[in-house]
Amino acid sequence: MSENKDTPVMYAKDETAQIREMLVKGESPLVCPRCNEELRVSGPVSAGDKLGPVYHVVCKPCRRHAAIRNVPKND
Ligand SMILES: [Zn+2]
Repeated sequence: MSENKDTPVMYAKDETAQIREMLVKGESPLVCPRCNEELRVSGPVSAGDKLGPVYHVVCKPCRRHAAIRNVPKND
């Protein structure tokens, strides 16, 4: 896969796991595991009954993004 300038790239699996961990813990702001910049989080948005809510996380400086599922609600 080429790293086109305009195309966001998915985080690696372990990086996605780290971001999910931060979401689960309710940390704020979330920081990028690659560059320590603040992540933009959107969601959760519904991805359908089977998948449940999904958070979308984007790091602007490194153009990485991730879709995070199975984040338990802590309210
Ligand atoms: Zn980053």
